[in-house]
Formats: sequence, C-alpha cells, structure tokens
Amino acid sequence: MTDSTKNMIGTLFIFSAPSGAGKTSLVKALLQSTGYIGVSVSHTTRAPRPGEVDGKDYHFVSVAEFQDMVSRSAFLEHAQVFDNFYGTSQEWVESELSAGRDVILEIDWQGAQQVRHLMPDAVSVFIAPPSIAALRERLQKRGQDSEDIIERRMRDARNEMSHYGEYNYLIINDNFENTVEELRAIVIARRHRLSAQQVRHEDVLQELLNG
Ligand code: GDP
Ligand code: ADP
Ligand code: 5GP
Repeated sequence: MTDSTKNMIGTLFIFSAPSGAGKTSLVKALLQSTGYIGVSVSHTTRAPRPGEVDGKDYHFVSVAEFQDMVSRSAFLEHAQVFDNFYGTSQEWVESELSAGRDVILEIDWQGAQQVRHLMPDAVSVFIAPPSIAALRERLQKRGQDSEDIIERRMRDARNEMSHYGEYNYLIINDNFENTVEELRAIVIARRHRLSAQQVRHEDVLQELLNG
C-alpha cells in the first residue's frame, strides 16, 4: 500500500455483458491504459477453451469442488450461467479493496445483483453489442465455441440484456477504441471523487487553505 492509498478503500467495478459482447477484450485493453486495476479470476465448472490457462483466465474446478466452496461461504457471489457454475472469491476481492486497489468483476446479472446488495458502493457497467447480428458475428469470429453453444449463448443474451436498467452505466461496444475510452472515463472519474481526493491530496489541500 502506498501513502496515497492509505485509509482509502478501492472501488469495486462490476462489468456485465452478454457473452461475446467484448468484455474480456475490453478489460484487457483497459488495463493497458489505466494504471493498476485488479481483475478477479473467477472459479468456473466450465471446460477450458483452447488457449485458456488455469489460474489466469479462470480457476477451473469440478462441480464437487465448486459446491465445497459454496458450503464454506468462499464466494462473494455465485451463479449458474448457461449450464455451468461461476463464482467470485470473496477473500481475494476483499483483500484487494482494503489495500486501496480497484477491482473489476466480469460477472453476469445474477452475480451483479448479489454484489450490489452486499456492496452498495460498487460501480456497475453494462456493456451491450451494437446489434444482435453483431453479437452473433463476434461469437462466431471468436471461433472458440461450437454452433450449439453459440445458439445457447444467443438465446441467453436477451435475458442478460433485459437487466441493463439495473446498472449505473450503459456502454455500447460498437467502435472498440471508443468503448475502451468510455470505460476508462468511468474509472478515472470515480478515482477523482471528492472523498478519495481529500485523502489522496490532504497535503495539497492543507497548503492551499492554510499555507
Ligand atoms: P464469455 O463471457 O463468452 O467469455 O464466456 P464465459 O463462459 O467465460 O462466461 C460466461 C458468463 O459467465 C459471462 O456472461 C460472465 O459474465 C459470467 N461469469 C464469469 N465469471 C463469473 C462469476 O464469477 N460470477 C458470475 N456470477 N458470473 C460470471
Ligand atoms: P466476452 O468476453 O464478452 O464474451 P470477447 O472479449 O471474447 O467477449 O469478445 C468476443 C469477440 O468479439 C472477440 O473475438 C473480440 O475480439 C471481438 N470484439 C470485441 N469488441 C469488438 C468490437 N468493438 N468490434 C468488433 N469485434 C469486437
Ligand atoms: P482475435 O481473437 O483473432 O484477436 O480477433 C477476432 C476478430 O475480432 C478479429 O478478426 C477482429 O475483427 C475482431 N476484433 C478483435 N479485436 C478487435 C478490436 O480491438 N477492435 C475491433 N474493432 N475488432 C476486433
């Protein structure tokens, strides 16, 4: 922890989007342009896609291991999405936030509801594709899911998107670079909120008022 983050809690950002809207690529680009933000690595019972690395993309676990974590209350939130279980480790998220670091959760609308209830200060962002056709095209172009799985994800997309009104921010991921800038603006604005700036710039404010 640096002096500037002392006494300051990090912000929890919740990003939700239908599968294929661009969350993972956007978060990767955002991290390259926006200083340090932690990204929570979820646990999932889904099988790894080609190229996915255990511990980096997800912690890949069996249904029994997942249920054991549920019974130990190890998850901040967990949900069934499509035919798989997904959950966010409570311990990691809480230790990052209390060390003053910002954290992004890439979770579905059910998990977002649970986290909002537990942490009302969380900032939530819904990322939508520009059209249904674009969403299908992105899932197909990504080339990592079978036609059956793509159909299942397209069916669930409308349900996920029907929850957009529960979020603080709505972003349409049409032009990729613009979308990264919009996400960056949300993160940067949040870091400049008065209560955080008062802690971060205590010395400057002291000097300006009394110096
Ligand atoms: P992708 O979003 O197309 O890359 O597909 P994934 O299989 O990686 O994720 C499917 C869905 O599960 C996405 O909509 C995620 O938002 C959601 N998801 C991933 N991790 C979590 C989690 O820890 N908790 C919850 N509730 N949802 C998650
Ligand atoms: P998610 O994590 O939401 O499932 P991905 O980040 O895997 O989505 O993105 C799905 C596909 O769409 C990827 O092949 C990605 O490169 C592509 N993609 C993301 N954003 C855009 C965009 N603005 N325009 C065109 N393609 C995009
Ligand atoms: P790949 O997974 O090979 O990096 O990308 C798959 C496809 O998604 C690419 O052919 C490209 O059209 C699209 N795509 C990937 N990244 C971007 C991006 O940053 N911006 C845009 N506009 N399209 C992207």
